[in-house]
Amino acid sequence: MVKYICKRCDASYDESFEGWRCECGGSLWLDREVKFTKEDIRKDDFSLWRYDKAYPIKKEDLVTSFGEGLTPLVEEDWKDQKIYIKNEALMPTGSFKDRGVAMMINYLAIKGVRKITEDSSGNAGASVAEYAVKAGMDCNIYVPEGTSEGKVAQVIASGARIHQVPGPREATARAAQEVSGGVYASHNWHPYFVEGVKSMAYEIWEQLGYSQPDNIICPVGNGSLALGLYQGFSELLANGEVERLPRVFGVQTHNSNLLYRKFHGLEEDYEPKPSVAEGITIKSCKAEEVVEAVRSCDGEILAVEEEEIIEALKETCKKGYFIEPTSATAFAGLNQLIKDKKIGLNEKTVVVVSGNGLKASEKILKYIK
Ligand SMILES: [Zn+2]
Repeated sequence: MVKYICKRCDASYDESFEGWRCECGGSLWLDREVKFTKEDIRKDDFSLWRYDKAYPIKKEDLVTSFGEGLTPLVEEDWKDQKIYIKNEALMPTGSFKDRGVAMMINYLAIKGVRKITEDSSGNAGASVAEYAVKAGMDCNIYVPEGTSEGKVAQVIASGARIHQVPGPREATARAAQEVSGGVYASHNWHPYFVEGVKSMAYEIWEQLGYSQPDNIICPVGNGSLALGLYQGFSELLANGEVERLPRVFGVQTHNSNLLYRKFHGLEEDYEPKPSVAEGITIKSCKAEEVVEAVRSCDGEILAVEEEEIIEALKETCKKGYFIEPTSATAFAGLNQLIKDKKIGLNEKTVVVVSGNGLKASEKILKYIK
């Protein structure tokens, strides 16, 4: 029996609960103990479902899957440093979101849900659209006006309905939440989403010979990527499969930096500005949880300037990685951490490429010129 809990007010709900968040406004989380050792890996499966003993859904119950997961972890030279790039651009719909979406859409499909609504800055919308359509669901995706053409094209081509909403990112969320009928399947809010994202931690652990890296650097907007990594490694630690938690560094753009402000105790009331990192220009609905997770593994929330993101984008593309501008935020964060000597030359550092450059090729051409 699955139980949902709210980390802010300690309320708990059973599986029949139909709301998408706690009555206090906090997000809901799955309350379950994970038992998992390396012997539990399904060696005959070559997707993220090889770790299904750690998940709330088993491989045999899947309704929809594109064989997601097992993206490359590539050793690279970066300045004088050796790093590992976890290349999520190679997920089925081109972003890490497929991990969480695969878990969320299968959960809803198993429950018999036939109609869903989602809001997204683009990548999650494209992912939800393609998984939902494959599961035979009626699907409405809300995205902000100005979303990269590649992501919009993915939604339209899947046959899902797209709604482009003017105004800030929050207006898009509100528009989706106000739809009546069907389920609000928000990747930002749904408790199963992080359960899927955590698979990335299991992969990195296996790819590094069943050990933890010292540092993981990723872009953060809502913060699901950082939360998933933290949760996965926490489970591995609880099962004695890693020696310690990696430090998780979440990187934001200064144009939209709620998590950075909260982490550093700065004024939280601000007007977000558009950014080249369109995937993370959102005020997180899990800000407290993200900050707490990052603190408890001794990591940090950083913020970088727009010019630094564009510089890092150029640097990464010149190494042959065609990444989306949002992902370049992590490399701009890496540059800052190296400059400030916060990560050591001999440490194992993983940088996450969260999405594929093909989704934003028209913008990349503009930025690198
Ligand atoms: Zn609550």
